[in-house]
Amino acid sequence: MAPRLKKTHPKYLPRKARTRAARAWLREKTDFQNLEMGFRAIITNSQLGFAYCEIVYENGKASDILCLEANQLMETLLNVSKVSGKKVTEIFPDFIQTRRHWFETFVQVATTGQPQSLERYFEALDAWIAFSVICPQHNHFVIIFQQVTEQKKNADRLAYQARLLDTINDAIFATDSALRITYMNTAAEKLFGWSAAELLGANHSRLLSPDDDEIPNLAEKMQKLDELVNWRGETRLQHKDGHRIPVELSLEVLRDERGSMAGVVIMAHNLSVHRQLESSLKTSETRFRLLFENMQEGFSLNEIITNPSGQVIDFRVLEANSAFSRQMGLRPADMVGKTGREITPNITPSQIETFGNVALTGQPLDTENYSLTTNRHLRIRAFSPQRGQFASIVEDVSQEREVEKSLRDSESKYRALFENGFYAILIFDQHTLRILDANDAFLQMYGYERRDIFNGLSLLDLSTETTDTMTNIHRALQTNSTAYLSLRYHHKNDGTELPIEMVAGAFTWRNRAVIFAIIHDITDRKNAERSLVQAHNELRTQMNKIQQLQGKLKEQAIRDPLTGLHNRRYLNETLPRELSRAEREGAPLSVIIADIDYFKKINDSYGHPFGDIVITELAQIIKNCARESDLTCRYGGEEFLLALPGVSLEDAKQRAEEIRQACAEAPLDLDIRKLSVYMSFGIATYPQHGNTAHEIIARADQALYISKNNGRNCVTAWDELQQPTTGIETSDA
Ligand code: GH3
Ligand code: MG
Ligand code: MG
Repeated sequence: MAPRLKKTHPKYLPRKARTRAARAWLREKTDFQNLEMGFRAIITNSQLGFAYCEIVYENGKASDILCLEANQLMETLLNVSKVSGKKVTEIFPDFIQTRRHWFETFVQVATTGQPQSLERYFEALDAWIAFSVICPQHNHFVIIFQQVTEQKKNADRLAYQARLLDTINDAIFATDSALRITYMNTAAEKLFGWSAAELLGANHSRLLSPDDDEIPNLAEKMQKLDELVNWRGETRLQHKDGHRIPVELSLEVLRDERGSMAGVVIMAHNLSVHRQLESSLKTSETRFRLLFENMQEGFSLNEIITNPSGQVIDFRVLEANSAFSRQMGLRPADMVGKTGREITPNITPSQIETFGNVALTGQPLDTENYSLTTNRHLRIRAFSPQRGQFASIVEDVSQEREVEKSLRDSESKYRALFENGFYAILIFDQHTLRILDANDAFLQMYGYERRDIFNGLSLLDLSTETTDTMTNIHRALQTNSTAYLSLRYHHKNDGTELPIEMVAGAFTWRNRAVIFAIIHDITDRKNAERSLVQAHNELRTQMNKIQQLQGKLKEQAIRDPLTGLHNRRYLNETLPRELSRAEREGAPLSVIIADIDYFKKINDSYGHPFGDIVITELAQIIKNCARESDLTCRYGGEEFLLALPGVSLEDAKQRAEEIRQACAEAPLDLDIRKLSVYMSFGIATYPQHGNTAHEIIARADQALYISKNNGRNCVTAWDELQQPTTGIETSDA
C-alpha cells in the first residue's frame, strides 16, 4: 500500500530546495516504509479483519467500491477469498441494492473524513462484529472488523444480572477485599437513601451506626470475615438520614482461588414492613379477642363428629366465648372439648344434622330456637369457616320477641279501632304518596275496593290539591305533632266531590316514613251550611220587602189617601216640633187654613165623586204653590192647612193670596161647563199670635171665620181687634 504523495513530491519544488527536500522525502519514505511494514505485520497477525477500499465513481456518482487490499481474517470472516483488486459488486453482486445503508455510510466516511463505528449481528456467522470505518485519504476508507461476540455476550449477561439485581427488592451491596463498596443495586439506594455515586468506594461502615448496641456484633463479624464463610441474622442498618432500619442481613464472603477474601456480598432484607405488619396483627388479634369475649352474641367454633359411614352424629366445641356459655347455662371452662349432646342435652338428631350440613356443604344457616332449658328465644346463625367445622353466632332475641308479642297485642287493639272507625283512616308513604293501608270506612267513603290499595292507589288519586296538602302537612308537622287541615276537596272513585277535613301525623311504620291521616267527610255539614246560607238570603229578601212595606205603611199613616197631602195626625206630630225649632232659632212660623166656599152646593149639584175631584184638584194647586220646607195637610173634609216655618205674617199673607188666586183661576172642567171654585183663608203667626200649635191653629181658624163673614174668597190674618161678632154670611160664588 502506497499513499500518493502528490504535492509533497520533490519534483514539484525548485531545484535547490529539491535536493534538501528529496533527502527529507527519502528519509520520510524510508520511515514510512518501515512503519508500513510494521503495520502490515500487525494487521496480518492481529485478530482484526482489515480492508482498504476506494470509492468508484461513475458519471460523478459513487457507484461501487474497489477493494485495494484485505487481510486473511477479513476474508475468513466474510467467507470470501482473493478480494484484493476486486470490486464489491464482483464479490457480492447485490451488495449496493441490499446493503444500501452500508454503502452510503462508507461513501460518507470516505468523503467527509468523519469516522464511524458500527456493531452488527451476523446471523450466517452467528457472531457479533464491530466495524470501525476510518478515512485515511479522500475517497478511500479502511474497515477494521472485530468479532465481539464473546464481549457482547458478557456485556449482555452483565446487563441482565444488573437488571436482575435491580429488580430484587432486597438491598444488595458488594465490597472488595478492603470492604469498600464496589456495587449497590437500586433497592439498596432506595432503602438507605444513598445514591450509588455517593457510596461506591466508601467503607461499609457508613451503613453501620456507631452508637447502636447491635452494631458491635456485626462489626465484629465483619472483622472476622477471614474465618467466616457466610452469616445470616437480624440487625439494624443506618439510613442516610440517621434512622435505623431493621433488616435481615446475609453476608457472603467471596474468596479467590487461593482462598483469601476477595470481597463480601451483603444482602439486606427490609423488616420494617414486616415488623409493622407483625405489630398490627398482634393488636388486631388482641382487639378481636376482646371483641370476641365481650360481644353480646354467643360464638362457638365446632367440628363435626361422624360415624364410620360418614353420618354426622354430634359435634365438638373447639372454642366458645363467655356469651355463648352464658346462653347455654354453663361455665366457660365446661364448654371447650364438650360435645353438642353434652352441652345441650335436649338437642335433636335433626338439629345436629342441620349443623352438620352447614359444616359439610358450606351453606349458611339462619334459624330461631326456643330453648326449654333456659326459657330463651335464641337466633342461631351458622356458617362454615372450613370444611368439617361450623361456627355459630347465637343471639338472645327473647326480649325482642316479647316486645313483638306485646306490639302484636296492642296492634290488634288499634286494628279494631282502625277497622270500626267512623273516620276514614289512611296510611301513606310520605315520599311516594302511595297508600299503604286504609280502613273500611275509607273504602266506603271514597268508593274504592281493597284491591285498589294493593294495586297502588295513591293520595294523588284522591285529590287534585295533593301537592298543596302535603306542603301544609309538612309545614304543620314542623311545629306540631299533628297537622289539622280544614276544608279540602277530594273526589270519590266515581268523580263526585267529597269535602273533607283531615288530621295527619308522621311516623315510621315498617321502616318507612309514613303519614297517618284521619279523614272526616263533611258533606252533611257542608250541605247544612249551604242551606243555611240560602235561608239567610231568602230571609234578607223578605226583610227588605217588609222594610219597604213598612215604609209604605208609615207613609200611608201620615198621608191623606185622596189628595196625597199629609194628614192631620202628621200635623199633630210635626207642628209642635217645628214650633220648638222656630223658638230655638228665634224664627217666625205662620199657619194658613183654607176652606172651600159653598162646597155643599158643589156636592149637591154635581155629586159627591165630583166633589172629590174638586178637592183633589185644589190640593194639587196648593201643593204646587208650596216650598220644600212647607208642611201641607188636608185638615178637614174640604179644609187645607199650610204650616210655613221661617215665614212672617206679612209673607204668609202674600203666599195665601197667591194660592187663593191660583185656585180661583184654575179651570175645573165639568162636561162643557166651566166651573170656578173659590176658597177663604185665615192666617196666624208665631210668636205674635200664640206659642202653641193649638193656639196658632185656633187663631188661624178664627181668621178664616172672619174671611167667610167678610164675603168669602179672601184672606184674613188674625187680629184681636177684629174678632168676629156675628154669624157667617153665605152668598153664591
Ligand atoms: P161655606 O162656604 O160656609 O164653607 O159653605 P159650605 O157648603 O162649604 O159649608 P161647609 O164647609 O160646612 O161644608 C162642608 C161640606 O163639605 C159638608 C160635606 O157634605 C162636604 N164634604 C165634606 N167632606 C167631603 C168630601 O170628602 N167629599 C165631598 N164630596 N164632600 C165633602
Ligand atoms: Mg168646611
Ligand atoms: Mg166650606
